[in-house]
Amino acid sequence: MKNDKKTYKPDWQPENAGKEFAVKVVKGTENTVGSKYVAVGKKQKALSADDYADGVLKNDRTLLARTITLIESNSQAHHQLSQEVLKKVLSKTGNSIRIGITGVPGAGKSTFIETLGLYLIKHGHKVAVLAVDPSSTVTKGSILGDKTRMENLSKEPNAFIRPSPSSGTLGGVTRKSRETILVCEAAGYNVVLIETVGVGQSEVTVRSMVDLFLLLQIAGAGDELQGIKKGVIELADALLVNKADGDNEKKAEMAKSEYSNALHYLQPATKGWQTNAYTCSALTGKGIPELWDLIQKFEKTTKESGAFAERRKQQSIEWVYSLIEEGLKNNFYNHEKIKEKLPELRNEILDEKILPTKAAENLLELFFKKYISL
Ligand code: GDP
Repeated sequence: MKNDKKTYKPDWQPENAGKEFAVKVVKGTENTVGSKYVAVGKKQKALSADDYADGVLKNDRTLLARTITLIESNSQAHHQLSQEVLKKVLSKTGNSIRIGITGVPGAGKSTFIETLGLYLIKHGHKVAVLAVDPSSTVTKGSILGDKTRMENLSKEPNAFIRPSPSSGTLGGVTRKSRETILVCEAAGYNVVLIETVGVGQSEVTVRSMVDLFLLLQIAGAGDELQGIKKGVIELADALLVNKADGDNEKKAEMAKSEYSNALHYLQPATKGWQTNAYTCSALTGKGIPELWDLIQKFEKTTKESGAFAERRKQQSIEWVYSLIEEGLKNNFYNHEKIKEKLPELRNEILDEKILPTKAAENLLELFFKKYISL
């Protein structure tokens, strides 16, 4: 991406800095501003699937947040209700570009999302920001959990920021995140940004739910090629060397060249699209308009070639498999007999009284007995 050599002064920098808006980072049901459904200080009224669906379709932010809370809930009753709501809004989903953003902690993800988000809002878009953070189970939400992050973006009426669901396994988080994307789309958000941290399985998971995947890197750590070893670069549609400002600009340009060379030897993540490296500065906004142009070009190219629609179809199939796996797993571990037998067998394994393979076989037999005997 070409950038001006002059000091860059973007015209979309927040005009609202310092002003108080009613909208805050939306967490659970605590965003109670401006909805007729919320009686402040009282217990929330139970809503029907129609109430939720109408609220989502009107982009009532409180009801959108409550719908997501429903989706994230582990209760069976909530799950059923959320599925009804989803069914009602399904025809209004799909009309967004879904963008995944990853990078190691400190790469500048939240700064980047705030800058890109403000730029998009300035240009008439509606932006939802979600997070997939497997570590949140342990740390109680290490990304997007902190309300001071993305402060300016969170004040924008056309932005909706939702921290990561903080319970369940990554598998559960996957289902919840996919459904959350859908309700945000139904509420009219046409750009959905999904942040994840550069650890383990989370990047593969996010790749499986987005149209385009961005990898944020920083220069100068001497580990430019580390991402390649981890295979993460192969998931990316664009590689952004962030913090290309001040004294760091030269180093960032060098890192960009290094990445560009390496990228030529790799299989592109998307059919018909060459992944390239670029520089940007989330802090000054330099390179952000060019990045948005690139994203639009990606969308146009892949829609014309059919790769966009093909990926979404493929993702739907993958989604079905992951739901089946999740359903089987939940059923298994919540089965009364398994809950009873598992700790017993666990002790026997520890005491070396039974082989792990035999223990697993016993449990599976116990679980499937009721189905097989039908
Ligand atoms: P995250 O952990 O990936 O979300 O990273 P943050 O967005 O929290 O940024 C980590 C630190 O890097 C913060 O102190 C930011 O102010 C700083 N930072 C982020 N982007 C830039 C940038 O483009 N240039 C410079 N100089 N600093 C940046």
